[in-house]
Amino acid sequence: MASQEKPRAGHYIFATHNAHKLKEVQASLRFPVQGLAALGCMEDIPETGFTLRENAFQKAMYVYERYGVPCFADDTGLEVPALGDAPGVYTARYATLPDDFEARMMAGDRRVLADIQAAPPAPHPTFAQNMDRLLHKMRGLEGPQRRAAFITVICLIEADGQPLYFEGRVEGDILNAPAGAEGFGYDPVFRPEGYDRSFAELDLETKNRISHRGRAVAALQQYLDRISAR
Ligand code: IMP
Repeated sequence: MASQEKPRAGHYIFATHNAHKLKEVQASLRFPVQGLAALGCMEDIPETGFTLRENAFQKAMYVYERYGVPCFADDTGLEVPALGDAPGVYTARYATLPDDFEARMMAGDRRVLADIQAAPPAPHPTFAQNMDRLLHKMRGLEGPQRRAAFITVICLIEADGQPLYFEGRVEGDILNAPAGAEGFGYDPVFRPEGYDRSFAELDLETKNRISHRGRAVAALQQYLDRISAR
Protein backbone atom coordinates (compact mmCIF):
# COMPACT_ATOMS: atom_id res chain seq x y z
CA MET A 1 0.00 0.00 0.00
CA ALA A 2 1.42 3.43 -0.92
CA SER A 3 2.17 5.26 2.30
CA GLN A 4 1.30 8.76 1.06
CA GLU A 5 -2.20 7.89 -0.20
CA LYS A 6 -4.73 5.30 0.98
CA PRO A 7 -8.21 4.47 -0.32
CA ARG A 8 -10.65 6.68 1.56
CA ALA A 9 -14.26 5.89 2.43
CA GLY A 10 -16.72 7.15 -0.16
CA HIS A 11 -14.00 7.57 -2.79
CA TYR A 12 -14.14 5.82 -6.13
CA ILE A 13 -10.99 4.24 -7.48
CA PHE A 14 -10.30 5.16 -11.10
CA ALA A 15 -8.23 2.30 -12.54
CA THR A 16 -5.58 4.35 -14.30
CA HIS A 17 -1.90 5.17 -13.94
CA ASN A 18 -2.31 8.14 -16.28
CA ALA A 19 -2.00 11.33 -14.19
CA HIS A 20 -3.53 13.46 -16.99
CA LYS A 21 -6.65 11.31 -17.14
CA LEU A 22 -6.98 11.27 -13.36
CA LYS A 23 -6.75 15.07 -13.28
CA GLU A 24 -9.41 15.41 -15.99
CA VAL A 25 -11.79 13.05 -14.21
CA GLN A 26 -11.20 14.59 -10.78
CA ALA A 27 -11.98 18.00 -12.29
CA SER A 28 -15.31 16.91 -13.75
CA LEU A 29 -16.77 14.21 -11.48
CA ARG A 30 -18.58 15.60 -8.43
CA PHE A 31 -17.66 12.53 -6.39
CA PRO A 32 -14.22 12.05 -4.86
CA VAL A 33 -11.87 9.96 -6.99
CA GLN A 34 -8.46 8.43 -6.36
CA GLY A 35 -6.09 6.71 -8.77
CA LEU A 36 -4.40 3.33 -8.51
CA ALA A 37 -1.64 4.75 -6.30
CA ALA A 38 -4.20 4.76 -3.48
CA LEU A 39 -4.21 0.95 -3.67
CA GLY A 40 -0.45 0.68 -4.04
CA CYS A 41 -1.18 -0.88 -7.44
CA MET A 42 1.77 -0.31 -9.77
CA GLU A 43 1.07 -3.16 -12.20
CA ASP A 44 0.46 -2.60 -15.87
CA ILE A 45 -3.14 -3.85 -16.12
CA PRO A 46 -3.65 -6.09 -19.18
CA GLU A 47 -5.80 -4.76 -22.04
CA THR A 48 -6.38 -7.63 -24.43
CA GLY A 49 -9.94 -6.98 -25.61
CA PHE A 50 -11.05 -6.38 -29.18
CA THR A 51 -13.33 -3.51 -28.19
CA LEU A 52 -13.14 -0.46 -25.92
CA ARG A 53 -15.92 -1.97 -23.81
CA GLU A 54 -14.02 -5.22 -23.27
CA ASN A 55 -10.86 -3.33 -22.27
CA ALA A 56 -12.70 -1.02 -19.87
CA PHE A 57 -14.35 -4.07 -18.26
CA GLN A 58 -11.04 -5.94 -18.06
CA LYS A 59 -9.30 -3.05 -16.26
CA ALA A 60 -12.15 -2.42 -13.82
CA MET A 61 -12.59 -6.13 -13.06
CA TYR A 62 -8.84 -6.56 -12.51
CA VAL A 63 -8.95 -3.98 -9.73
CA TYR A 64 -12.25 -5.15 -8.28
CA GLU A 65 -11.07 -8.78 -8.05
CA ARG A 66 -7.64 -8.04 -6.59
CA TYR A 67 -8.46 -5.20 -4.26
CA GLY A 68 -12.18 -5.72 -3.57
CA VAL A 69 -13.13 -2.07 -3.99
CA PRO A 70 -15.77 -0.37 -6.16
CA CYS A 71 -13.96 1.17 -9.08
CA PHE A 72 -14.24 2.31 -12.64
CA ALA A 73 -11.95 2.19 -15.66
CA ASP A 74 -12.05 3.83 -19.05
CA ASP A 75 -10.78 2.94 -22.46
CA THR A 76 -10.48 5.40 -25.30
CA GLY A 77 -10.04 5.00 -29.01
CA LEU A 78 -9.44 7.44 -31.83
CA GLU A 79 -11.29 6.43 -35.00
CA VAL A 80 -10.43 7.81 -38.42
CA PRO A 81 -12.96 6.61 -41.03
CA ALA A 82 -10.51 7.30 -43.90
CA LEU A 83 -8.15 4.78 -42.26
CA GLY A 84 -10.80 2.10 -41.72
CA ASP A 85 -11.51 3.41 -38.18
CA ALA A 86 -7.85 2.91 -37.21
CA PRO A 87 -6.22 3.20 -34.75
CA GLY A 88 -9.38 2.32 -32.75
CA VAL A 89 -8.79 -0.10 -29.91
CA TYR A 90 -5.02 0.12 -30.59
CA THR A 91 -4.80 3.90 -30.16
CA ALA A 92 -2.28 3.66 -27.28
CA ARG A 93 0.17 1.51 -29.22
CA TYR A 94 -0.49 2.74 -32.74
CA ALA A 95 3.16 3.44 -33.62
CA THR A 96 4.15 -0.18 -32.94
CA LEU A 97 1.56 -1.75 -35.29
CA PRO A 98 2.47 -3.40 -38.61
CA ASP A 99 2.59 -1.04 -41.57
CA ASP A 100 -0.38 -2.71 -43.31
CA PHE A 101 -2.72 -2.23 -40.31
CA GLU A 102 -4.75 0.61 -41.88
CA ALA A 103 -4.92 -1.12 -45.29
CA ARG A 104 -6.32 -4.27 -43.66
CA MET A 105 -8.79 -2.27 -41.57
CA MET A 106 -9.97 -0.46 -44.73
CA ALA A 107 -10.40 -3.81 -46.46
CA GLY A 108 -12.60 -4.95 -43.54
CA ASP A 109 -10.09 -7.65 -42.57
CA ARG A 110 -10.86 -7.83 -38.85
CA ARG A 111 -8.36 -10.70 -38.42
CA VAL A 112 -5.74 -7.98 -38.23
CA LEU A 113 -6.90 -7.37 -34.65
CA ALA A 114 -6.27 -10.99 -33.66
CA ASP A 115 -2.89 -10.93 -35.43
CA ILE A 116 -1.85 -7.89 -33.42
CA GLN A 117 -3.06 -9.50 -30.22
CA ALA A 118 -1.01 -12.64 -30.96
CA ALA A 119 2.22 -10.69 -31.66
CA PRO A 120 4.79 -10.37 -28.85
CA PRO A 121 4.21 -7.22 -26.78
CA ALA A 122 6.24 -4.17 -27.87
CA PRO A 123 7.32 -1.36 -25.56
CA HIS A 124 4.78 1.48 -25.25
CA PRO A 125 5.40 4.13 -27.91
CA THR A 126 5.53 7.81 -26.98
CA PHE A 127 2.64 10.17 -27.74
CA ALA A 128 4.91 11.86 -30.32
CA GLN A 129 5.56 8.55 -32.10
CA ASN A 130 1.82 7.80 -32.25
CA MET A 131 1.02 11.25 -33.65
CA ASP A 132 3.83 10.94 -36.21
CA ARG A 133 2.35 7.73 -37.55
CA LEU A 134 -1.11 9.24 -37.75
CA LEU A 135 0.13 12.32 -39.59
CA HIS A 136 2.20 10.16 -41.90
CA LYS A 137 -0.72 7.86 -42.76
CA MET A 138 -2.99 10.87 -43.36
CA ARG A 139 -0.56 12.74 -45.59
CA GLY A 140 -2.41 13.90 -48.71
CA LEU A 141 -5.88 13.47 -47.17
CA GLU A 142 -7.95 16.65 -47.13
CA GLY A 143 -11.32 18.02 -46.00
CA PRO A 144 -13.83 15.36 -44.92
CA GLN A 145 -11.15 12.68 -45.20
CA ARG A 146 -9.50 14.19 -42.13
CA ARG A 147 -12.60 13.51 -40.00
CA ALA A 148 -12.02 11.63 -36.75
CA ALA A 149 -13.77 10.84 -33.49
CA PHE A 150 -12.62 10.06 -29.98
CA ILE A 151 -14.74 7.55 -28.10
CA THR A 152 -14.50 6.72 -24.39
CA VAL A 153 -16.20 3.83 -22.64
CA ILE A 154 -16.26 3.80 -18.84
CA CYS A 155 -16.98 0.57 -16.98
CA LEU A 156 -18.14 1.01 -13.38
CA ILE A 157 -18.11 -1.95 -10.99
CA GLU A 158 -19.86 -1.30 -7.70
CA ALA A 159 -19.88 -3.47 -4.58
CA ASP A 160 -22.23 -6.05 -6.21
CA GLY A 161 -19.62 -6.78 -8.91
CA GLN A 162 -21.96 -5.97 -11.79
CA PRO A 163 -20.53 -3.87 -14.64
CA LEU A 164 -22.27 -0.74 -15.90
CA TYR A 165 -21.16 1.17 -19.00
CA PHE A 166 -21.12 4.87 -19.89
CA GLU A 167 -20.02 6.25 -23.25
CA GLY A 168 -18.90 9.62 -24.61
CA ARG A 169 -17.91 10.72 -28.10
CA VAL A 170 -16.54 13.83 -29.74
CA GLU A 171 -16.27 14.49 -33.47
CA GLY A 172 -13.50 16.53 -35.01
CA ASP A 173 -10.65 16.43 -37.47
CA ILE A 174 -6.95 15.70 -37.55
CA LEU A 175 -4.72 18.73 -38.10
CA ASN A 176 -1.78 18.67 -40.52
CA ALA A 177 0.71 19.37 -37.72
CA PRO A 178 0.64 19.36 -33.89
CA ALA A 179 -0.51 22.57 -32.16
CA GLY A 180 -0.57 23.38 -28.44
CA ALA A 181 1.03 22.01 -25.29
CA GLU A 182 -1.88 21.17 -22.95
CA GLY A 183 -3.36 17.71 -22.35
CA PHE A 184 -1.80 14.48 -23.54
CA GLY A 185 -1.89 11.80 -26.21
CA TYR A 186 -3.22 12.99 -29.56
CA ASP A 187 -4.52 16.31 -28.17
CA PRO A 188 -2.15 18.46 -30.30
CA VAL A 189 -3.48 17.00 -33.57
CA PHE A 190 -7.20 16.71 -32.74
CA ARG A 191 -9.44 19.71 -33.39
CA PRO A 192 -12.94 19.25 -31.97
CA GLU A 193 -15.86 20.19 -34.20
CA GLY A 194 -16.92 23.83 -33.81
CA TYR A 195 -13.50 24.96 -32.56
CA ASP A 196 -10.58 26.48 -34.42
CA ARG A 197 -8.03 25.13 -31.96
CA SER A 198 -6.69 21.71 -31.03
CA PHE A 199 -7.53 20.01 -27.72
CA ALA A 200 -3.97 20.87 -26.66
CA GLU A 201 -4.78 24.58 -27.07
CA LEU A 202 -7.91 24.45 -24.91
CA ASP A 203 -7.96 24.79 -21.13
CA LEU A 204 -8.92 21.76 -19.06
CA GLU A 205 -12.43 23.05 -18.30
CA THR A 206 -13.27 23.57 -21.97
CA LYS A 207 -11.82 20.20 -22.98
CA ASN A 208 -13.76 18.45 -20.21
CA ARG A 209 -17.03 20.09 -21.31
CA ILE A 210 -16.84 18.75 -24.85
CA SER A 211 -14.49 15.79 -24.82
CA HIS A 212 -15.21 12.08 -25.18
CA ARG A 213 -14.05 11.46 -21.60
CA GLY A 214 -15.89 14.51 -20.25
CA ARG A 215 -19.13 13.26 -21.81
CA ALA A 216 -18.65 9.71 -20.54
CA VAL A 217 -17.92 11.10 -17.06
CA ALA A 218 -21.06 13.26 -17.26
CA ALA A 219 -23.11 10.11 -17.94
CA LEU A 220 -21.42 8.39 -14.98
CA GLN A 221 -22.15 11.46 -12.85
CA GLN A 222 -25.86 11.34 -13.74
CA TYR A 223 -26.01 7.70 -12.70
CA LEU A 224 -24.19 8.31 -9.39
CA ASP A 225 -26.51 11.28 -8.69
CA ARG A 226 -29.54 9.03 -9.30
CA ILE A 227 -28.40 6.25 -6.98
CA SER A 228 -27.21 8.58 -4.25
CA ALA A 229 -30.65 10.30 -4.26
CA ARG A 230 -32.41 6.99 -3.53
P1 IMP B 1 -6.46 4.48 -23.00
O1 IMP B 1 -6.21 3.07 -23.43
O2 IMP B 1 -7.84 4.74 -22.60
O3 IMP B 1 -5.45 4.97 -22.03
O4 IMP B 1 -6.29 5.41 -24.26
C1 IMP B 1 -5.62 5.00 -25.39
C2 IMP B 1 -4.80 6.11 -25.97
O5 IMP B 1 -5.68 7.10 -26.48
C3 IMP B 1 -3.90 6.86 -24.98
O6 IMP B 1 -2.65 6.28 -24.90
C4 IMP B 1 -3.79 8.22 -25.63
O7 IMP B 1 -2.75 8.22 -26.56
C5 IMP B 1 -5.10 8.36 -26.36
N1 IMP B 1 -6.02 9.22 -25.63
C6 IMP B 1 -6.91 8.84 -24.67
N2 IMP B 1 -7.59 9.91 -24.22
C7 IMP B 1 -7.11 10.97 -24.91
C8 IMP B 1 -7.41 12.36 -24.87
O8 IMP B 1 -8.25 12.85 -24.11
N3 IMP B 1 -6.74 13.13 -25.74
C9 IMP B 1 -5.80 12.63 -26.60
N4 IMP B 1 -5.46 11.36 -26.64
C10 IMP B 1 -6.11 10.53 -25.80
